[in-house]
Amino acid sequence: MPIRATATSNAHATGAALPGCSGTYIVLLEVSRPRRLRIGRLGTFELPPGLYAYVGSAFGAGGLAARVGRHLRIAAHRHWHVDYVRAAASPVAVFWYAGPAVLEHRWSAVLARLCGAPPPVPGFGASDCRCGAHLYRLPADHPHGRLAAALAGVAGSPAVQLTLVGGSASRHGTVTMQSANRPARSRTHPR
Ligand SMILES: [Zn+2]
Repeated sequence: MPIRATATSNAHATGAALPGCSGTYIVLLEVSRPRRLRIGRLGTFELPPGLYAYVGSAFGAGGLAARVGRHLRIAAHRHWHVDYVRAAASPVAVFWYAGPAVLEHRWSAVLARLCGAPPPVPGFGASDCRCGAHLYRLPADHPHGRLAAALAGVAGSPAVQLTLVGGSASRHGTVTMQSANRPARSRTHPR
């Protein structure tokens, strides 16, 4: 999997480095200590420390930059389930794919398979789809490269970008992660 550095800028921490077009994303959020959180109408849940992956898609105005940028801030008004987790966590990285294909549910399935455990909050972010949830807790020390390769293997997303947003600005940047697999065929039906 070739990794190519394309940019380094503080704009990564705000999402401004991402494109303003439509796409699919996964925000990695680090929870540093056990947290007991009320998550909207879903109820109250115990979240153990660890790295959580939230998958979504951006098809509104401002595209990926606007939507991911919103997740990277702590929302003044909690609208989405992820807003409740964001308030108790730190953003680490964003995987994203820029394009018109709706990949969030298939990326959710990839996360479910990689995590190998039930989602920590059933129904999280999945009110309008058939996924079990759109939030997963990654296994400890899960390598970014393995997740990127799995995402890039999904038909329609042969190139997945990884933007590092956590820690000091010197570590911020975006890399292109290509699947080792042959280019995927595009499909008209995302499911
Ligand atoms: Zn879904």
